[in-house]
Amino acid sequence: MKDGTIAVVGASAAGISAAETLRAEGFGGSLVVIGDEPHLPYERPPLSKQVLTGEWGEDRLAMRDAEALARCGIDMRLGVRATGLDVGARRLTLDDGGRVEFDGLLIATGVRSRTLTGAEGLSGVHTLRTLDDVTALRERLSTRETLAVIGSGPLGMEVAASLAQSASHEVSVVTDETTPMERVFGAEVGRVLGGIHQRMGVTLHTGQTVAGLERTAGEASAIRLADGTKILADTVLVAIGSAPNTEWLDGSGLPVRDGVECDAYCAAAPRVYVAGDVANRRSATGGRGVRMEHRMNATEQGAAAARNLLSEIRGTNGSRAVYTPVPYFWSDQYALKPQAHGILRGAERVEIVYQDLGSADRPRVAALYVCRGLVTGVLGIRIPPRILRALRELIVVPKPLGAVRSQADYVLSAMG
Ligand SMILES: Cc1cc2nc3c(=O)[nH]c(=O)nc-3n(C[C@H](O)[C@H](O)[C@H](O)COP(=O)(O)OP(=O)(O)OC[C@H]3O[C@@H](n4cnc5c(N)ncnc54)[C@H](O)[C@@H]3O)c2cc1C
Repeated sequence: MKDGTIAVVGASAAGISAAETLRAEGFGGSLVVIGDEPHLPYERPPLSKQVLTGEWGEDRLAMRDAEALARCGIDMRLGVRATGLDVGARRLTLDDGGRVEFDGLLIATGVRSRTLTGAEGLSGVHTLRTLDDVTALRERLSTRETLAVIGSGPLGMEVAASLAQSASHEVSVVTDETTPMERVFGAEVGRVLGGIHQRMGVTLHTGQTVAGLERTAGEASAIRLADGTKILADTVLVAIGSAPNTEWLDGSGLPVRDGVECDAYCAAAPRVYVAGDVANRRSATGGRGVRMEHRMNATEQGAAAARNLLSEIRGTNGSRAVYTPVPYFWSDQYALKPQAHGILRGAERVEIVYQDLGSADRPRVAALYVCRGLVTGVLGIRIPPRILRALRELIVVPKPLGAVRSQADYVLSAMG
């Protein structure tokens, strides 16, 4: 057999990275990429930022154009959904009635937005994950004046910032967190960011839960909170997290729990690998799996999983490499660009190692995140790149706070 067929399900960041890596590694067989969206692969991060504000048109989002994909020898099947997988027979079934027999499979089906029970189909209630979502949201906002965002994670706060900055709408955020982005960055950093949002005119309703949505003539008109507060809003963005796209794998026998579970090589079964937002990866030392929803991880894990899949198909299992990323994540809110390296979520302690709040809307903050006694993550807000890079080096191998703190102080002394 000469390389055979590799199928990639999911035509976005992880899937395209995997497909291009396979070619770069000399895979000469047939390469089929199946994606259920009708669009050529595009970048999602600008959707809540430059595309929502109208600064960028759709044309700037393309990850690759059709010619580049064709040059790479990728058989793109867009607008086609994989509906089933037979691992033993190495066969995919598709919603257009087709089947794909494969020698290797890479799953990169990502996640979708979670919705609010009872609000599905109500006019004026939106989620934001896809190009079609942002088109619908922009269209709605173009004729409306008030937006309520439910959820204060990065997505919700980016949308709030995009609209507050252009002063186009009255924006409220409702969250059960005590500060925006508390789960992601911790309460200390969340307070700093929340203060800026408030100064920019965003009304924050923290520590609140939504009791229901009110409707007028079949359209959303207000949010009712559990404490009885009513927030008038003609548009509602539900930004309460995501759900991995795994239903199509029901009955396949693959381990599915909060994504597709895979080992440290990104393998879920023989010749079946997983990458990107949908991958729930265990580390080489075991423990709980980790699923990351970061743009950079999608590219890196797509490439790593593709290389390992190719090694397995070629019978050179020994050359497979454990995937050991130092996660990287950024967000854009106003002139701030919080950037995080390593693992922040679930930290038992957040140590602010640098804080300059002198210029109220342009603070500088650096923080270390301690998980199970070791510093596993670092966050920088408006910290110069060379200094943040140096801080990142300190957490690549997690160490106790005492050791990292003094080194961080030394690095940060260059801030002046
Ligand atoms: C609005 C927004 C802003 C973001 N901003 C940032 C940011 O600032 N920084 C950052 O680090 N990350 C950000 N992200 C996250 C980042 O975009 C994701 O981590 C990245 O897109 C993940 O890529 P992926 O290929 O794993 O999954 P996805 O991009 O979700 O792609 C999966 C694809 O598979 C398709 N699919 C699903 N099921 C099937 C099926 N059965 N058959 C065929 N196709 C299927 C999906 O429709 C989708 O096209 C943002 C995400 C969004 C939505």
